[in-house]
Amino acid sequence: MKPQQFVVIGLGRFGSSLALELMEMGYEVLGIDHIEERVEEMGEQLTHAVMADATDEGIMRSLGVRNFDCGIVAIGDNMERSILAAILLKELGVKQVVAKAISILHGRALSKLGVDRVIFPERDMGVRVAHQLVTPHLLDYIEISKDYKIVELTVPACMDGKSLAALNTRAKYGCSIIAINRESGIIVAPTALDDLHENDIIVVIGSNESIDRFENETV
Ligand code: ADP
Repeated sequence: MKPQQFVVIGLGRFGSSLALELMEMGYEVLGIDHIEERVEEMGEQLTHAVMADATDEGIMRSLGVRNFDCGIVAIGDNMERSILAAILLKELGVKQVVAKAISILHGRALSKLGVDRVIFPERDMGVRVAHQLVTPHLLDYIEISKDYKIVELTVPACMDGKSLAALNTRAKYGCSIIAINRESGIIVAPTALDDLHENDIIVVIGSNESIDRFENETV
């Protein structure tokens, strides 16, 4: 079942932005931070915000943290406290525990403790921005495996008015356009007769090489 209730530990830049986005999406969020001002800043905007030390087992129990579907440890200023908070969430029985790592070793320690998902926001954002800088039409991408990815690109002027048959991406580059997103709506699994307009967003799937070849045409 989809998680509905989230507890976010550490209301720094990452934790607060994640907590606010979850609220925006309509979920319940308990925010915890041991700094009073952070809690006050977020208090109005979250379902609940509590000033507490997330490494204190008694307090975490009394807050009923075990009833939450997902716990996110967003402590980035102290590795020891991040690890202790993650252990506590696991021990208290939170179903899904996600933690932010600040180094590879920190990430490895969190994984070994059984954290379900370890994220490296700064590293991942750096990689993402690097890709976007060299491919101006790239909006986003997902790595499906080491060799395959899905990318979201804006359609450049040179492809305006061209049908998918004319572009012939599968034969020419080895990748497929699986969706076209434009103001009037989204076309999922477009046919050869659908054509592209400048600034449409296309979703393309294929091997890294095939997509790189296609992206070079969009520059
Ligand atoms: P960012 O880089 O995302 O801004 P920070 O590392 O600066 O993240 O922020 C981490 C937050 O976690 C801080 O607001 C800090 O007060 C909070 N924090 C650190 N340790 C604990 C703890 N033991 N219990 C609760 N909150 C904590």
